[in-house]
Amino acid sequence: MPCQESDRPRCSRRRLLSWSLVAGCGLLAGRVGAASAAATAARQLEFHCLHTGDTVSAVYWEGGRYVADGLATIDHVLRDFRTGDVHPIDPYLLDLVHRLQLTMGCDGPVHVISGYRSPKTNAMLAQRSGKVAKNSYHVKGMAIDLRLPGRRLEDVRDMAMRLGGGGVGFYPDSQFVHMDTGPVRAW
Ligand SMILES: [Zn+2]
Repeated sequence: MPCQESDRPRCSRRRLLSWSLVAGCGLLAGRVGAASAAATAARQLEFHCLHTGDTVSAVYWEGGRYVADGLATIDHVLRDFRTGDVHPIDPYLLDLVHRLQLTMGCDGPVHVISGYRSPKTNAMLAQRSGKVAKNSYHVKGMAIDLRLPGRRLEDVRDMAMRLGGGGVGFYPDSQFVHMDTGPVRAW
């Protein structure tokens, strides 16, 4: 199934998704104290964009709020690499990726195949391949195609699905997992 989506507005309730999810799986299993520490610690992400070669690291959440400079840095590295267009990336998507790394015990760079896609780029890709949705969440800054170095793609997919924060697509031929902040679904 391609990256399909509805026009349903984003569900703000999910932004409040409990950090107990983190406590429930992976490294922090059963450690309530560690989970509460994770809930207040600064959230930092490092992205390496495979198409541009750019690598950036940014703190995007700290002291109970999102950090504008950090978000802007990440928006830029996740830009449409074909056109250079920059678009705000959904902070909740960053939280999902952050949780994915945390629960898998990764602290290295997230390798990015695709982040934001301009309408022009998406239309071109959709014309080329039936696997690209015409109204992809990539166009809204709500999706990312990624892999985690040193982690099996199947394990990344399984953990992304376990987080239950949105859509998860498995693309073994292209060696990436798609994550988005649309409705929970998998393909
Ligand atoms: Zn995707």
